[in-house]
Amino acid sequence: MTKPPSPVLVWFRDDLRTADNPALCAAAERGVPIITVFVLDEATPGLRRLGGASRWWLHHSLAGLRAGLAKHGVPLLLRRGPAADVLAALARETGAASVHWNRRYSPGEIAADTATKAALTQAGVAVTSHAGNLLFEPWTIRTGAGGPFRVFTPFWKACLAAGWQPPLRENPELRGGETSVTSDALGDWGLLPRSPDWAAGFPAHWTPGEQGARARLEEFITDGLSGYASLRDRPDRPHTSRLSAHLRFGEVSARTVAAAICQARDTGAANERDADKFLSELGWREFSHHLLYHFPTLPHDNLQPKFVAFAWREDPKGLEAWQKGLTGYPIVDAGMRELWRTGTMHNRVRMVVASFLIKDLLVDWRQGEAWFWDTLVDADHANNAASWQWVAGSGADAAPFFRIFNPVLQGEKHDPDGAYVRTHVPELARLPAKYIHRPWEAPSSTLFEAGIELGATYPHRIVDHAMARDRALEAFKATRG
Ligand SMILES: Cc1cc2nc3c(=O)[nH]c(=O)nc-3n(C[C@H](O)[C@H](O)[C@H](O)COP(=O)(O)OP(=O)(O)OC[C@H]3O[C@@H](n4cnc5c(N)ncnc54)[C@H](O)[C@@H]3O)c2cc1C
Repeated sequence: MTKPPSPVLVWFRDDLRTADNPALCAAAERGVPIITVFVLDEATPGLRRLGGASRWWLHHSLAGLRAGLAKHGVPLLLRRGPAADVLAALARETGAASVHWNRRYSPGEIAADTATKAALTQAGVAVTSHAGNLLFEPWTIRTGAGGPFRVFTPFWKACLAAGWQPPLRENPELRGGETSVTSDALGDWGLLPRSPDWAAGFPAHWTPGEQGARARLEEFITDGLSGYASLRDRPDRPHTSRLSAHLRFGEVSARTVAAAICQARDTGAANERDADKFLSELGWREFSHHLLYHFPTLPHDNLQPKFVAFAWREDPKGLEAWQKGLTGYPIVDAGMRELWRTGTMHNRVRMVVASFLIKDLLVDWRQGEAWFWDTLVDADHANNAASWQWVAGSGADAAPFFRIFNPVLQGEKHDPDGAYVRTHVPELARLPAKYIHRPWEAPSSTLFEAGIELGATYPHRIVDHAMARDRALEAFKATRG
């Protein structure tokens, strides 16, 4: 009797999909049974524990992946613990002689993967890693002098000149492996919030998983892409893709998204301006990962050293009002409440609320980054940190600190009728558009007719923007000596 072939292991991480998954494809090409695993690793030092909203997403995404793989007879095992130990034990238990995974790029993840590779190699298990999560590996795009880029435009130009690979062929033939090896039960991981279930509203907005990602991409190309370039800054209009969480968890690859957009452009289904603008936003995702790879302290240290001495204020009350959407500035409150209720916030409003926290309240950007990390379904180590540093002015290619968003003018420009504010701050819904972004200027009769009592049904402003602006500029001047 011939010995059955030893299976190959595929370790899923930020790539929870079957299509255009290089690690899975490479395993399939081996022609031996495939066993897949996801490890909830909250034990290896240097790995950041997922925030609450991301944990909700992960639960549903894993359930979807497991169902998708089961159609091919491929098991998805769930294990918890330090990945190096879990993988080595699993290779022993299954008799697998090789493991495949797609690379990750944050410093903690690189260190964890290096340690896992060493443990497996020592145990005689071959490890192969693949490029599957970005359009470009961060070290492949270099300046003329051979270093990393710090400015987006030349970075993206270099990317466009290099060109990215098309996605791999759809649906690799997967051969399942019968395994008696045990798996944790997904429900036992406690990824979903209970008492209170603050994510109860999320399913109305999201369908995590590969199928949901593909449906979202198609819907965006049909209904949202046209007009993207001019309307992407309007939180009251449905013109952004809402793909960020799907990309974060790798339910669709950046290559698949880019290829679909290019196809829409090349066949005339989308105009060049909209398509190119959208591709450049994917470019910001690449740039953030490029920065994180080359400047690994990005999530916690100011990239510009002059900010080290910045005199941030400790303002727990202001921070709490910001988190709860009770600052008295309607566009800020709408954004923060959208975030809490749905797990996301429109990009323009993210910039406005971040500017408000950093510049109007002078609260350290790291406190905002941490709140976003916990509450965003798309919380991403690279994109979140790079974006907060961009708004703070402390990052690479950042908005200068002295450019301070006026929350009233931002609201009036990007939510002119106040539809976005009315959706998320219902107590202001009956206020005429003229006052929707500045309720404190409304005559008392107008407030009365709209059912608003400032300080009772809706808060007074927690800070005067004009004063706060001057205070921020003074603080910034002091950092320059
Ligand atoms: C303070 C702040 C924090 C942020 N934190 C995150 C985060 O944790 N995770 C995250 O994915 N994005 C983050 N962003 C970037 C951006 O707001 C979101 O990617 C975007 O709102 C997601 O919506 P969308 O998919 O509809 O975007 P679209 O406009 O449809 O863009 C398409 C894709 O491009 C990428 N992208 C777009 N804008 C950016 C950007 N500025 N930086 C990096 N990638 C971008 C995303 O993957 C997005 O899905 C943050 C922005 C700010 C200002």
